[in-house]
Amino acid sequence: MADQLLVFDTTLRDGEQSPGASMTCEEKVRIARALERLRVDVIEAGFPIASPDDFKAVKAVAEAITDSRVCGLARALNKDIERAAEALKPARAGRIHTFIATSPIHMREKLRMSPEAVLEAAVKAVRHARQFTDDVEFSAEDAGRSDPDFLCRVMEAVIAAGARTVNVPDTVGYSVPAQFGELIGMLRNRIPNADQAVFSVHCHNDLGLAVANSLAAVQYGARQVECTINGLGERAGNAALEEIVMAVRTRQDVFGCSTRIDTPHIVAASRLVSTITGFAVQPNKAIVGANAFAHEAGIHQDGVIKNRETYEIMRAEDVGWTANRMVLGKHSGRNAFRARLAEIGIALKDDATLNQAFERFKDLADKKHEIFDEDLQALVSEGALEAVESVKLVALETASGTGTKPHASVRLVWNGKDYEARAEGGGPVDAAFRAIEGVIASGAVLQLYAVNAITSGTDAQGEVTVRLERRGRIVNGHGADTDIVLASAKAYLNALNKLLVPDNRTHPQLPRGM
Ligand code: MN
Repeated sequence: MADQLLVFDTTLRDGEQSPGASMTCEEKVRIARALERLRVDVIEAGFPIASPDDFKAVKAVAEAITDSRVCGLARALNKDIERAAEALKPARAGRIHTFIATSPIHMREKLRMSPEAVLEAAVKAVRHARQFTDDVEFSAEDAGRSDPDFLCRVMEAVIAAGARTVNVPDTVGYSVPAQFGELIGMLRNRIPNADQAVFSVHCHNDLGLAVANSLAAVQYGARQVECTINGLGERAGNAALEEIVMAVRTRQDVFGCSTRIDTPHIVAASRLVSTITGFAVQPNKAIVGANAFAHEAGIHQDGVIKNRETYEIMRAEDVGWTANRMVLGKHSGRNAFRARLAEIGIALKDDATLNQAFERFKDLADKKHEIFDEDLQALVSEGALEAVESVKLVALETASGTGTKPHASVRLVWNGKDYEARAEGGGPVDAAFRAIEGVIASGAVLQLYAVNAITSGTDAQGEVTVRLERRGRIVNGHGADTDIVLASAKAYLNALNKLLVPDNRTHPQLPRGM
């Protein structure tokens, strides 16, 4: 058997830290189930001390997942580690991931600690975490810019203290492949107890090199990669899971290792993450972009028809592009509906929720001939959100066209009270947003508005993403409907609902004690 490369997914932790990508507890559990179906080895479910909601979400994931390990992040502080241990109690296999920065600039400017004090804190944190579980991972934040000698001392000490995984993050995306690979090789050669831990990497994409750096590290013996679906993550994102997995699989001759990933579930996981976060996947994105396997040029098509290997290094079905073409329609019954949801990994919690979802499905089937898995995902997302939202759309009417001034009338329920408003705008979407603001008066600034067709055909549902900003806080909202003006209003309200919930989370990269 080839060497195992462990896949550590941090979509729910680092991915969620990208501005606007915050998810509800229910959404996190849904993504965790998709990750488990993909057979990722470790799911980093969150940073439990960040807020009561983050704690709850890590706990809910720990309860729901049986096949993957569930991991919680903790700064090198006892209170963080204890909170993570508490959230992970229900996990069949739990991991505590503790970290502290080791680069001169982070130690001096952020932590205001001497290197010796950092070393001591790292060791103490690992020892403390080991009291709760044998599976402890240590990360040297900003390792990519750390002094190699100091990094060796820290890693040796934390392995001796019981860390079973040592992670080398390129926190700021500064590394380049040859140098980063050699750094991993150097650590593995120089650290005397290196054989007692798995070496891991966590690369950011600021220079577009996250995947390349991760793969270079694999060639030098890293056996865990930290990554996210669609490369979601802070700033330019993390290394994309799908790209790493397919590179290792397609070029076994180069990497000589393999992952457990069940690749035909990749596209479904990608769709789910983009629907939930509102971060659309660009069409030319490797593996999961809509054009990733499309051959348009006649000469390529000719080659592919004669023998697909002339232009294809991977098969579309191997990553799930054809697996989800199962279609439901107007005449599909409740059992077929339920069975299809189960097949794509959606478990509704009770019969009442199933009935509500089935009603939505019937409404959609009246407007749309064929219902695809992507439609089902959108439909279930919407149902789950409606249950927790404080502002709900009751009715929307818009008018537009040549020679008329576009206008919209909206009826909303906000914390149980009815409101109505009417507004004019540059177009029906603008008018609808103005009408909603006529009621809510949020003062938020619209940063992004995007429409995507979920599936093909003119009767497809439009999926709208809206990004709002208020006092430095950014939220994304999404909404889907066959009527894109209605989808837009739903997306705007979804974003507003997020904005109306106060945010008191602690960011993991804030200094200690904050
Ligand atoms: Mn990160």
